[in-house]
Amino acid sequence: MTADYRRLRVALLGAGAVGAQVANLLRTHADELADRAGAALDLVGIAVRDVDAPRDVDLPRELLTADAEKLVVGADIVIELMGGIEPARSLILQAIGAGADVVTANKALLATHGPELFEAADQVGASVHYEAAVAGAIPIIRPLRDSLAGDRVHRIMGIVNGTTNYILDRMDREGSDFADVLADAQRLGYAEADPTADVEGYDAAQKAAILASLAFHTSVPIEAVHREGITAIDKGVMDAARHAGYVIKLLAVCERLTGRDELSPAGEAVSARVYPALVPREHPLASVHGANNAVFVQAEAAGNLMFYGAGAGGVQTASAVLGDVVSAARRHIAGGVGVGESTRANLPVVEIGVVTTRYQITLEVADEPGVLAIVAGILAEGRVSIATMEQTVVREANGQGGLARIVIGTHTAVERDLSETVDRLQASDVVERVVSVLRVEGD
Ligand code: NAP
Repeated sequence: MTADYRRLRVALLGAGAVGAQVANLLRTHADELADRAGAALDLVGIAVRDVDAPRDVDLPRELLTADAEKLVVGADIVIELMGGIEPARSLILQAIGAGADVVTANKALLATHGPELFEAADQVGASVHYEAAVAGAIPIIRPLRDSLAGDRVHRIMGIVNGTTNYILDRMDREGSDFADVLADAQRLGYAEADPTADVEGYDAAQKAAILASLAFHTSVPIEAVHREGITAIDKGVMDAARHAGYVIKLLAVCERLTGRDELSPAGEAVSARVYPALVPREHPLASVHGANNAVFVQAEAAGNLMFYGAGAGGVQTASAVLGDVVSAARRHIAGGVGVGESTRANLPVVEIGVVTTRYQITLEVADEPGVLAIVAGILAEGRVSIATMEQTVVREANGQGGLARIVIGTHTAVERDLSETVDRLQASDVVERVVSVLRVEGD
């Protein structure tokens, strides 16, 4: 029964994969949503580029408009599902300025202009909700902002890009090549025709910036997120990882570095980075298959938590958007200060060179006496301590020189030391090539 409820005007910007599903649920679940929000949510219009374009779901023609700016005027809640930076940014600022609460799934916008939007909202006491911007349907923003508000998050490791997880998972399970699985993923709709944003880690980096900012109460700009993609992961690297008891995942790692007096006066700093990493097979993140996402959070008091589920998909993402719409409606009714972003910790964000991790280095070397000692010497000189070393013969010495592959597992080392050491290995006469250098996470 919605009759007694106050009515709120909801403007929707975008009716694509997510927006069309949001519009549909707003209309078909109207009574339930009103009961949960304590307000009737009247969808007053839907802005699109082309009002005559075919839609995934039937939407009343009279709700569609190409005039987004006009639609925002007078709205109580604006749901932005257009994507991209402009005109999404200007429309959100306009909505906030006019006293609306905003719901958005736009990770690209939040990662680049988040502080501007949050500050604008702060000034007028409005709120900006963005549960769907990271890991689609999975509740992770609200748990970090609300549920863990009394705790201290130390570290987040997220599989936050479904496309790359789909590709790496199939390479791992089927022993297939990157290019073959990518082509298949494109055919099946798991990867875009231009897969750069996914396979080069740009999408995951945007999500890392959002998660690190929220978890560590610090503004982490996208430029400060170290990013590496998965295009160098070939069948050989995958096989070696499997052989060593690991699975390779593209991880967004957000970390609070503590006890490092050299990093800041408080001995604390924040690191955010995206790279393919070796994850032990027994770690919960190793069992995240297909296009699913998962975010593993380590907090001081709560311990280890994992949030798992669909990281994308129109209707799945619409679930997270509608949860935000209900929150926005409750705040709009209750008044008071909106859910602002806290940046009170304002910790320095450090570059990857100072981060410490364990590594696995795979080399092809001349299969000759004394080579292992030379390699071990270069590592020791670079302050990289060896934990494990395994050698296999790649090519017997039949007239020409023999070739061996050695896989070195290191103890924790500083990234800068490791990278200088790898350069020296590369330059050494006994090393034919550095096959791969991967970080080990989650052990
Ligand atoms: P989409 O399918 O490309 O839909 C975009 C919609 O916005 C379309 O309806 C388009 O109109 C409209 N639009 C774009 N530019 C416009 C403009 N300048 N003026 C008016 N309307 C405009 O996008 P989506 O996949 O639904 O994604 C929407 C947002 O959700 C993005 O920020 C995305 O990153 C985020 N997100 C998506 C998913 C997912 O699974 N798809 C998951 C998590 C987060 P037309 O229809 O007329 O072209």
